[in-house]
Amino acid sequence: MEVLKITPRGYCHGVVEAIRAAKQTAKARPGEKIYMLGYLVHNTHATDELQESGITLVDADNRLEGLDQIKDGTVIFTAHGVAPAVKEKAAARGLHAVDATCSDVVVTHELVKDLAERGYDIVYVGRRGHPEPEGVVGEAPGQVHLVQDPEDVDRLQLTNPKLAVTCQTTLSIWDTAAMIKRVTEKYPQTEVFNEICRATQDRQEAAVEQGKECDVVIVVGSERSSNSKRLVQVVQERAHRPAYLVDTYRDIKPEWLAGKKKVGVTSGASTPTHLTREVVEYIEGL
Ligand code: SF4
Repeated sequence: MEVLKITPRGYCHGVVEAIRAAKQTAKARPGEKIYMLGYLVHNTHATDELQESGITLVDADNRLEGLDQIKDGTVIFTAHGVAPAVKEKAAARGLHAVDATCSDVVVTHELVKDLAERGYDIVYVGRRGHPEPEGVVGEAPGQVHLVQDPEDVDRLQLTNPKLAVTCQTTLSIWDTAAMIKRVTEKYPQTEVFNEICRATQDRQEAAVEQGKECDVVIVVGSERSSNSKRLVQVVQERAHRPAYLVDTYRDIKPEWLAGKKKVGVTSGASTPTHLTREVVEYIEGL
């Protein structure tokens, strides 16, 4: 069976920098209590490894409430970013904070903050329950309007002549373009700031283009990972090929590959390289 290793794939700069920051913190503060407030990056294997190096995971969907579980020591904010209220609460509790927010997410925070200060209402395309929107919306609660589906846009009742639209960094580039179009059709004065990050764009475009050459595509990544799930989605919708998300090679079902000649393999931006290598080796060995 032939394997096409879809390129680019795997770790992005934001994940590499967040893991480096966390490991440096653990090394620099031996014997201290160190916590990550949520999954540092959305891959269970990557976070398991950090826990083995002495960093405790506070598995809280709501970052503000999660802080209540940390009495003292160091808290690491994850690559997805946090709302200003979380930083303020951590400081008020006397915690040492390490901010591992990806620089691309920081750009969106600064954009939203600036627009809000200049009197804009901001429509933010993102997924409910994901920490990145939680953090960005927290920059200007009341002025940032989270929309996930077209129906959310239809329900908006905005009267502010100063409007902007922006988005989560890891969405489908095609779905987001359609959502932005819907917003600008409803509110033609809207200023557009498409903030899907370069790493997400490159991985999605590669998965679609190279996925077309394959009979099936395997995406290595965690169920938690937005960008990994979007890779599955865009291969199915844009390359019109079956695509499956696996955490490790053990999740691969034989029937997915039965009768297939060429298998594409890609991985999310937070997937450790060795997991993808094991998937490639497993399929090549069939
Ligand atoms: Fe940053 Fe994009 Fe990687 Fe998320 S996927 S950590 S936004 S580079």
